[in-house]
Amino acid sequence: MLMCKDLAEIASDYIDDELTSRRKLSVKVHLMMCKDCRTFIGNLRTTTDLFKVHSSGRVDEEFLRRVDERVAEALNAHETNGSESD
Ligand SMILES: [Zn+2]
Repeated sequence: MLMCKDLAEIASDYIDDELTSRRKLSVKVHLMMCKDCRTFIGNLRTTTDLFKVHSSGRVDEEFLRRVDERVAEALNAHETNGSESD
């Protein structure tokens, strides 16, 4: 299981797409569960994008939106399953 400190260490590689697909999956799973790291990655990505805009002019907002949707789904599923257990 990936920890927050592990994610922080590989976050820039994740944003630069330099991780193995298996490693990327661990990051994505962690991001689905951990709002703090989503904020962290989001901020880091924004900063990175500011530099990248000059070379490519492309911002990967579509990806972030998809992650957001999955997180929302995961949270909804979690709440409907767990909130009324009686
Ligand atoms: Zn985390």
